[in-house]
Amino acid sequence: MPTNLEISRSAERRPLADVAADMGIGAHLVEPYGSTVAKLSLDAVGELADRPPARYVVVTSITPTPLGEGKTTTTVGLGQGFSQLGKRAVVALRQPSMGPTFGIKGGAAGGGYSQVVPMEAMNLHLTGDLHAVTSAHNLLAALLDNHLHKGNALGIDPFSITWRRVLDVNDRELRRIVTGLGGRQDGVPRETGFDITAASEVMAVLALATSLRDLRRRLGRIVVAYDRAGDPVTAEQLGAAGALCVQLREALKPNLLQSVEQTPVLVHCGPFGNIAHGNSSVLADLIGIRCGDYLVTEAGFGADMGAERFFNIKCRASGLVPDAAVVVVTVRALKTHSGRYRVVAGKPLPEAMLRESPEDVYAGAANLRRQLANVRAHGVTPVVAVNAFPGDFDSEHRAILDIAAEEGVRAAVSTHVAHGGKGAAELADVVATACEEPGEFAFLYPEDLPLADKIDLVARRLYGADGIELSPLARRQLDAYTRCGFGDLPVCIAKTHLSLSDDPMRKGAPTGWRLPVREVRASVGAGFVYPVCGEMRTMPGLSSHPAAEQIDIDEAGEVVGLA
Ligand code: ADP
Ligand code: MG
Repeated sequence: MPTNLEISRSAERRPLADVAADMGIGAHLVEPYGSTVAKLSLDAVGELADRPPARYVVVTSITPTPLGEGKTTTTVGLGQGFSQLGKRAVVALRQPSMGPTFGIKGGAAGGGYSQVVPMEAMNLHLTGDLHAVTSAHNLLAALLDNHLHKGNALGIDPFSITWRRVLDVNDRELRRIVTGLGGRQDGVPRETGFDITAASEVMAVLALATSLRDLRRRLGRIVVAYDRAGDPVTAEQLGAAGALCVQLREALKPNLLQSVEQTPVLVHCGPFGNIAHGNSSVLADLIGIRCGDYLVTEAGFGADMGAERFFNIKCRASGLVPDAAVVVVTVRALKTHSGRYRVVAGKPLPEAMLRESPEDVYAGAANLRRQLANVRAHGVTPVVAVNAFPGDFDSEHRAILDIAAEEGVRAAVSTHVAHGGKGAAELADVVATACEEPGEFAFLYPEDLPLADKIDLVARRLYGADGIELSPLARRQLDAYTRCGFGDLPVCIAKTHLSLSDDPMRKGAPTGWRLPVREVRASVGAGFVYPVCGEMRTMPGLSSHPAAEQIDIDEAGEVVGLA
């Protein structure tokens, strides 16, 4: 099979105005950024409001291996699969961060015959939204430090500052730094650090905003520090919110691209999946939901994380109601959940794992069963998508279909990476049927449930824990947040995505454990409180041989080496 880059380059693209026209979006709402990407005017939300809504499908997965199980490829493939049935679909995805693109992971535009094109555009800069987030975030940091330098009228406790700086580069050197060194004129020295731009609260704010006005409101609400009385200090109080909003006004518009089969793809925002909610933007969905028969979107990590946040954070913000959830399953992930194998990022799969073994696949069933239950816990109909890889055996696919049948869940094998939309036609058919089931979508908890109870509920119901262990610090922070009026926010539990538990080595569906909450932080602008359970890397490092070493420009000026 040709490489992703080769497939991307040979894809025949339609003019974006035509892609938009098929979505029912008039040319006056399309703002071209070159010939391969366009931004959509936010006027589209209002202009399309009386169109019938599409069926809303979220793509999630079982607990993945570090390699990823193909949510992005399946999301794109499913969108293309609907075309095979004569239906119109729109796909909505996160924008990849360039840190990982040049680091270990390579791009995130899907793969094979189910990818977004041009993949160079999607993976590198796109329309600069990430840079706008970086600028806005760092402007707020500069305004905060300037406030300290100019006499600290708000009485900010410098040790309480939570606002760091961001950059879209994997650079471990910047994790912990000291700023303001020099003399009196060079600022107030303090310890701080950089996170990757995807981890910026501004990114989460952008992704959850429902309008320009709502963006302005959320930016103002961002808490950057506390004063000496313990009261929150906001971006609004620093006079920063208006300027941040101005910097983000273009970035708030969703980007329109297309897939290799010319299915419309909205690419917008890329918040982290652990310390943030890990979903593409609300605005892209508010537009996409009026533009066809199906809107298919991906939620980061497994159903315990990305889908849970999709339901309880993103849908709460957007007001949209999902009709079905596709749970992506691979042979390699289920074999890993048997506990018999270990998959390491950047290394080939263990030899023994490549042998035909439906028994190994079946032995990992507990994880799939739990993730299906996690979807059903929200009243949403799950569908199992078996993402077929080249080395899989039919017997192994059948083992997955058997587990789905035991759970009473519809399922299909999908070969979208090798065969594009044709390979996903059966999956699309099954998803279409699932969407017609009467929905009973419900949030997992009401807003007014106390924060600690929200965490406990998610840990027990979705992760299979026996409860939570709050550290004394976490307990104090929860009390303080409640006192500050943040008690009604949903929770976004930051834990490893590699296990249902807080220990990445525990596979399957671990039982007999409690979730330890080390500390709790608040993204008040975005609108969630995030308990931190374990070591969370918010600034990745680079490996011995980063992807950057392979990436170059060829004689013709084309990008090569992008995986
Ligand atoms: P996720 O979105 O779940 O992280 P991706 O869709 O990005 O997963 O896929 C992870 C990696 O696996 C990518 O490199 C992708 O190209 C590859 N991949 C996914 N599905 C297949 C498949 N069916 N066959 C071969 N490679 C695949
Ligand atoms: Mg993905």
